[in-house]
Amino acid sequence: MLDLNILAEQTVDMPEAPYHARHFIDGVFADSADGRTSERVSPSHGIVVSQAALGSEAETEAAIRSARAAFDDGRWSGLSGKDRAVILNKVADLIEASEERLAVIETLESGKPISQSRGECGGAADLWRYAASLARTMHGDSHNTLGEDILGVVLKEPIGVVSIITPWNFPFWILSQKLPFALAAGCTCVVKPSEVTPSTTAMLGEMLAEAGLPAGVCNIVLGYGDPVGSLMSTHRDVDMVSFTGSTAVGKRITKSAGDTLKKVALELGGKNPQVIFPDANLDDAADAVTFGVHFNVGQCCNSSSRIIVHEDIADEFVARVVALSRKVVFGNPMHPDTQVGAIVTEEHRSKIDGYVNDAVAAGAEVCLGGGVLDVPGLGNQFYQPTVVRGVTPDMPIVREEVFGPVLTVLTFRDFEEAVALANDSTYGLSAGVWSENVHTCLAFSRKAQAGTVWTNTWMDGFPELAFGGMKESGQGREIGRYGFEEFLEVKSLVMRIGRTRAPWVKTA
Ligand code: NAD
Repeated sequence: MLDLNILAEQTVDMPEAPYHARHFIDGVFADSADGRTSERVSPSHGIVVSQAALGSEAETEAAIRSARAAFDDGRWSGLSGKDRAVILNKVADLIEASEERLAVIETLESGKPISQSRGECGGAADLWRYAASLARTMHGDSHNTLGEDILGVVLKEPIGVVSIITPWNFPFWILSQKLPFALAAGCTCVVKPSEVTPSTTAMLGEMLAEAGLPAGVCNIVLGYGDPVGSLMSTHRDVDMVSFTGSTAVGKRITKSAGDTLKKVALELGGKNPQVIFPDANLDDAADAVTFGVHFNVGQCCNSSSRIIVHEDIADEFVARVVALSRKVVFGNPMHPDTQVGAIVTEEHRSKIDGYVNDAVAAGAEVCLGGGVLDVPGLGNQFYQPTVVRGVTPDMPIVREEVFGPVLTVLTFRDFEEAVALANDSTYGLSAGVWSENVHTCLAFSRKAQAGTVWTNTWMDGFPELAFGGMKESGQGREIGRYGFEEFLEVKSLVMRIGRTRAPWVKTA
C-alpha cells in the first residue's frame, strides 16, 4: 500500500466559461482569418479551459510586419527610458491586480497547484518592475584617450525586432523573464506562447493595451511551433530569437535562424545535480532535494532530478527524502494546500512512466512510487513521487530530462568523483552543493559546469542575477543586467573634433 498525502478536496472557484484567447496584432485583438481554434482541456479537471485562435503564416507575417514598422519608426525606441519605464510599471500594477484571474487559468491549463500559479503570475510583476528600472540604464562608454582630437563613444542600442517563443511549464514567468527586458531595451516583439498554455500570454496582451503600450510594439500570435514559431525564427525582418524550451527545438531554431544570422538566445533543458557531502545539514538538504524534484511535478528546467550523495550517508539520506516525499501534498491543484498537481498531458505522463519502467528493466530499484497516481474525483493524470536507486550514469533516466517527479540517486567516494559525476552530462543549467565546509562548497562551485550553482539552497532566484545554461542547456543569459544586455546592440562612434584628419590623397 503506497502511503501518500493526497488531497482531493477543492476550494478555489472554477471559471464560469472557457477563456477565449485571441491574437494581438498591431494593437488589435483578433481570431485567425481562417477561423481555426484549438481547445485546451484541463489535465486535472477534464473541462475545456480555453479556446485559442490558431495562427497561420498570415497572422505571423502580419505580426512581424507590425513589429518591424513599430521599431523602424521609433515610436518605442524613440521614447526616453523614463517614459518606457512608466508603461512597464503600469503593466506590473495590472499584473498584480489580475493575479487571481491569471492564476486560475494557469492552474487549469497546466495542472500546477494554485499556490504556485499565484506566486508565478503575481510574482512576475517584480520582473516587470526590475526591467523598468533598467530602461534608464542603457549606457555604453566613452574614450577620450584615443588622441587629443578624437572622441570615441560606444553606444548601446536596441537590437530590433525580437521573436519570443515560450514553453508550457512556466508560461507567465518565462514570458516575464524576456518581454519586459526586451521592451525596456527599446525592442519591439512578436510573442508566441506554447499551444498547450496560451491563455495567460493572451491575457497579458489585454494589460499591455490598457497600460498604453503603443500598437505594434508587442504582438502576440497563438499557435503551433510550425508554422508560427518556425516563421518567427526564419523571417528576414526579425533580428533576434529569444527561445525557452527543449534542447531539440532550440537546436532546430539555431539552424533555421542561421540563414539570416539572427542572434539567438536559448534557455533549454537541464539534468541538474545536487551533491550532498557527508558534513551537510541533512535535514535542510533532504528538504531541498524533495522540493527540487517535486516542484511543478518535476516539469521544471531546474528540476534537481539527479542527486549525488556520499556513500557513507546515502542510505540515511535516501530514507529521509522518501519520508519527506510521503508528506508532500499531492492532488487537486485547485486547493491552496496542494503542493504537487497534475502532469501536463497524458502523452507526457506515459513518457515519464516509460523512463521508470526502462530503468527497472535495466536493474534499477524503485524505493518509492514508480507509477501513475489516481486522485479521487480527478482521475489519473498524476504521477507518484518516485525515488530510484541502483542506477548507473549511462542510463537514460540519469542522462535525459524525465520532466516528472522522479529522483535518481548516484553515490560518490571523494570530491573528485562527485565533481566528475556532476559534470557528466550534456546539460549545464544548474547544480547544487551541500556541505558545512565553505572550502568544499567554493571548490565545487568553481568546478561545476553550470550557469547557476546553489550552495546550501536550491532554486532561490532573483531578478538581479543572470540565469542561463552552459553546454546544451543554452546560450546567452536572461534577467539581471546580463539578460538586459542580450537585447542590446553595440555601436561605436568615432568623432574627429575640428578638421584634424590627415588627407589620404595627396593633392599638392
Ligand atoms: P518545446 O521545445 O516543445 O516547445 C517550446 C516552444 O517552442 C513552444 O511554444 C512550441 O510551440 C515552440 N516550437 C516547437 N517547435 C518549434 C519550431 N520548429 N520552431 C519554433 N518554435 C517551435 O518545449 P516544451 O515542451 O514546451 O517545454 C519543456 C522544455 O522547456 C524542457 O526541455 C525544459 O527544460 C525547457 N525549459 C527550459 C527553461 C530554461 O530556462 N532553461 C525553462 C523552462 C523550460
